Amino acid sequence: MSRHVIVTGASRGIGAAIAQSFIDGGDTVVSFSRSGTAPEGCATTLAVDVAESETVTAAVKTAIEAHGPVDVLVVNAGITNDGLAMRMSDEQWRSVLSVNLDGAFYCARAALSSMIRNRKGSIIFIGSISPFYGVPGQANYAAAKAGLVGLARSLAREVASRGITVNVVAPGFIDTDMTSDVAGLEAMTSLIPMGRTGQVEDIAGVVQFLASNHSRYLTGQVVAVDGGLAMGL
Ligand code: NDP
Repeated sequence: MSRHVIVTGASRGIGAAIAQSFIDGGDTVVSFSRSGTAPEGCATTLAVDVAESETVTAAVKTAIEAHGPVDVLVVNAGITNDGLAMRMSDEQWRSVLSVNLDGAFYCARAALSSMIRNRKGSIIFIGSISPFYGVPGQANYAAAKAGLVGLARSLAREVASRGITVNVVAPGFIDTDMTSDVAGLEAMTSLIPMGRTGQVEDIAGVVQFLASNHSRYLTGQVVAVDGGLAMGL
């Protein structure tokens, strides 16, 4: 049966691959991104800045009116705005927290009531290994991604009895626009036990599992998908 799936940040990178994997499986996919672009085959494509609370609430309402209760929400939209902490401006800090953490909360809150009424659903946050590993220059990003874990685990306890699972996928280094200009990537790759950076499909596959019945007894977890880099987080 076709599920109603919302994917944020679906215009490119990991989000596009996740959206594509649900489309390929016959699901009804609604994509959110700032640019309003998305893989072909999405049922609805909306230009949404996830940092804007009212915009997110309205967009999720539009999706529910068009396709019914949300079955799966993948909160993937994210940005970086790197700099050493002592030189990081308020704006650099705020921009990353606004998109990566506030935006995640707005999306989850907006989708939850339809999942609760329907007594089923999966929420999957795309986090990062950065809060577990520690990344110089990414205090804002690591703090936001750490916040996602607290958000996910609290939500997981709030809604577990309603048949809703909430989990975090924590990617390592995945080849996308976000990592295309990371300094020292070669040195970092040498630390990855599997000896390579990840591909967007490596993340999409794990998201598929977390959205499926195979993981129905799995909630409040952080699943690192990183070729072994942060083993033991
Ligand atoms: P990309 O930079 O390739 O893509 C980012 C996506 O997020 C785009 O679709 C972009 O849309 C969207 N986006 C950014 N800001 C907003 C916003 N304010 N509102 C709505 N959409 C927005 O990133 P990746 O695919 O690499 O990353 C996806 C997620 O995975 C992020 O949360 C990231 O933190 C996480 N991650 C990535 C890793 C990696 O190695 N690549 C490692 C660990 C975590 P648009 O193009 O329209 O602006």
